[in-house]
Amino acid sequence: MAENKRSSKGFVLWLTGLSGSGKSTIAEGLYQKLDAIGVGYERLDGDVLRGVFPNTGFSKEARDEHIRRVGFMASRLEHHGVVVIASFISPYREARQFVRNLCSNFVEVYVKASIDECTRRDVKGLYKKALAGEIKEFTGIDDPYEEPENPEIVVDTINQTVDESVSQIMDAIKQYL
Ligand code: ADP
Repeated sequence: MAENKRSSKGFVLWLTGLSGSGKSTIAEGLYQKLDAIGVGYERLDGDVLRGVFPNTGFSKEARDEHIRRVGFMASRLEHHGVVVIASFISPYREARQFVRNLCSNFVEVYVKASIDECTRRDVKGLYKKALAGEIKEFTGIDDPYEEPENPEIVVDTINQTVDESVSQIMDAIKQYL
């Protein structure tokens, strides 16, 4: 290993939360911090992965299957010492639990913001469409989001800044870095 590279233990940092809660924004902040200290990582991003598996639907069955698929991938990477930053709405508890069970070091981060706040942010204009009935099975509008019951970390993106959330997570994962 190069001298300036730190050796880290593989783990899966799993960001879950509503669309627009701040998963991608916080993941970006984490990448910058990890880059700065020379820790390599693999990004698994919900939107990117749906592009890779384009026929994945939004029914409970399709969402769960998708999460099992990407979760399996995350667990294999982790097994080989990779730091995995996974960012998926992953609305169902059971599917998240399935991934947790596959992994040795699973750190669940609930990226928390209310549905009202996410609708107000409406980063991608999707809430407007969902509220108008133009998009169906939209999490938080006409599809459920099951809040994590015992996540390792909760970041409150209404009352915290992005930097505060990123620091909170970095602090929690330092045992692996
Ligand atoms: P997601 O990936 O969960 O769909 P995004 O990160 O794409 O969400 O969007 C979150 C939006 O909320 C961004 O526009 C971001 O700038 C904004 N935002 C406001 N405050 C925060 C915060 N404290 N943490 C994260 N995002 C925040």
